[in-house]
Amino acid sequence: MQPPAQPPSVRDSALPCTWQPPSACQGCQADGKLMCRFDGKDMLHFFMIFLPFGFTAIAGTIHAGYGWFLLLWLAYSLFFFFVWEARVLCRHCPYWAGAGSMLRCHANYGVIKIWKYEPGPMSRVERVQFVAGVLLWVGFPIPLMLLGHEYLLALIGMSVAVSGAFLLRRNVCSRCINFSCPLNSVPKQLVDIYLRHNPEIQAAWEASGYRLQES
Ligand code: SF4
Ligand code: SF4
Repeated sequence: MQPPAQPPSVRDSALPCTWQPPSACQGCQADGKLMCRFDGKDMLHFFMIFLPFGFTAIAGTIHAGYGWFLLLWLAYSLFFFFVWEARVLCRHCPYWAGAGSMLRCHANYGVIKIWKYEPGPMSRVERVQFVAGVLLWVGFPIPLMLLGHEYLLALIGMSVAVSGAFLLRRNVCSRCINFSCPLNSVPKQLVDIYLRHNPEIQAAWEASGYRLQES
């Protein structure tokens, strides 16, 4: 007689540990140190960092008399976050590997996953594209404020953009699981722990030349 079928274990599943039941995290040394499971508090934190810049950019552009240009900014935002950034950055992220056609993560929740998941790291060309795309997005409203002589609001906009980038890198990028992002600052020790939990991602990284520390 055949033995009864066993329920699938964590190792049987193709999904990264990020999408496994919480029981998969028991004893993991990265538990609590990475943003490796979706948490609404992380999403709130992320948007609190971006809110001051978004508010200043919109108010400053309208005050400067270029409010209609915000439609262009909106169009670029949709293209950038749904298509370009999704292609060069997010499709490499373990959050992208989750089930369903909608991305669920702390930063780009709701983006439709039009690209196929790629477990390997971002290429150099993709990193350059990502940085260029972000600079274009952040820089878009500043010249409009200057053209409209809203110098104080332009200065505030630049200041909150710089302080937001600092906060982002210190509080978010230091725990984010998209390790090949140019802003990512997770220590190698934690990167290796995550990769060891996820053989498919580890193999793709090693095929790109990454080497894990001897354990
Ligand atoms: S790295 Fe993976 S196993 Fe460890 S706590 Fe995060 S999701 Fe859980
Ligand atoms: S890289 Fe950031 S925004 Fe993109 S899927 Fe991962 S966590 Fe979300």
